[in-house]
Amino acid sequence: MRYVDELRDPKLIRAVAAEIWRAVDPERHYRIMEVCGGHTHAIYRHGLPELLPPMIELVHGPGCPVCVLPMGRIDDGLALAEQPNVIFAAFGDMMRVPGRKGTPLEYQARGADVRMVYSPLDALKLAQANPQKHVVFFAIGFETTAPSTALTLMRAKQLGIRNFSVFCNHVLIVPAIRAILDSPDMRLDGFIGPGHVSTVIGCRPYLFVARDYGKPLVVSGFEPLDLLQAILMILRQLREGRAEVENQYRRVVPWNGNPAALKAMAEVFELRPYFEWRGLGFISQSAFKIAPAYADWDAEVRFDIPGIRVTDPKAAQCGEVLKGVLKPPQCKLFGRECTPEHPIGALMVSNEGACAAYYHYVHRLSATRSA
Ligand code: SF4
Repeated sequence: MRYVDELRDPKLIRAVAAEIWRAVDPERHYRIMEVCGGHTHAIYRHGLPELLPPMIELVHGPGCPVCVLPMGRIDDGLALAEQPNVIFAAFGDMMRVPGRKGTPLEYQARGADVRMVYSPLDALKLAQANPQKHVVFFAIGFETTAPSTALTLMRAKQLGIRNFSVFCNHVLIVPAIRAILDSPDMRLDGFIGPGHVSTVIGCRPYLFVARDYGKPLVVSGFEPLDLLQAILMILRQLREGRAEVENQYRRVVPWNGNPAALKAMAEVFELRPYFEWRGLGFISQSAFKIAPAYADWDAEVRFDIPGIRVTDPKAAQCGEVLKGVLKPPQCKLFGRECTPEHPIGALMVSNEGACAAYYHYVHRLSATRSA
């Protein structure tokens, strides 16, 4: 407990914040992207923007896996929930994400057999407990959750469980960062690299950010002191004219990643030629599909997937927020038509979505203060 207390110690936090104020050039504007949705949430929860000098602008990245999934892909998954004799299993944060005809919870209310699970292994257990049904697990997440899906598929194969399959929507962080760097609207000075994904892939895959694009990237933890230190490390690199990949989260993130998790992913998945991301469009080799050796457990092989493509509601500006071009309150629907109680976009549903984090920690607070 002492360790966490230190990472939240107000005296240490004030000291690092003071160093940040000393490190900035008052004539300059800094745009730093926190790639990971967990970081966005932590930044607002701890009120970090209030500690930072006004020339530092934190830009929210596409690192929330629920938010980057296009509505058509959600509809494709929900089409499986409508199949006879299917149990559709998904994580809790997917349950309120709207597709064209409603959320998984609304499908459940209309009679579809939709179940919330805490892990893919829970979905496999559902299959074992319901041999007369077929269980489809709606898999989402970056490299953080992909290893547990891989291990579950290895287990299903080992046990010969045939009434289980995975609708695979695992996406990869590195192609998303590259797409952002290649985007013409982007003017970023540095990146706070994701913490959880990096426990699996390590820091090495980000080297291209410094080498090819000349931008600093610092992998960070999720406590306030972690994030402030990461910002300070980025500022120091910029001041010294360096562009390097550094690891602030060394207590958890190994430089070369987790070999067992990487091995499981390499066994079960292969790269899709391209995958559609909400806000970023089609990005080549940016997602996993299930490898042919596991085709019997691949929902896309076992079922006819409609391949639905849906454009977001016109007024919704989720894409711009995901690319860091707009801040959440700049969306025309924010806090009016789109709220956590009645979300229009996934960024307002998921805990890691920038709109939900902003709504809970900034918008609501300022509404209370001005009341
Ligand atoms: S406020 Fe709603 S519609 Fe607008 S960007 Fe956020 S989630 Fe999307």
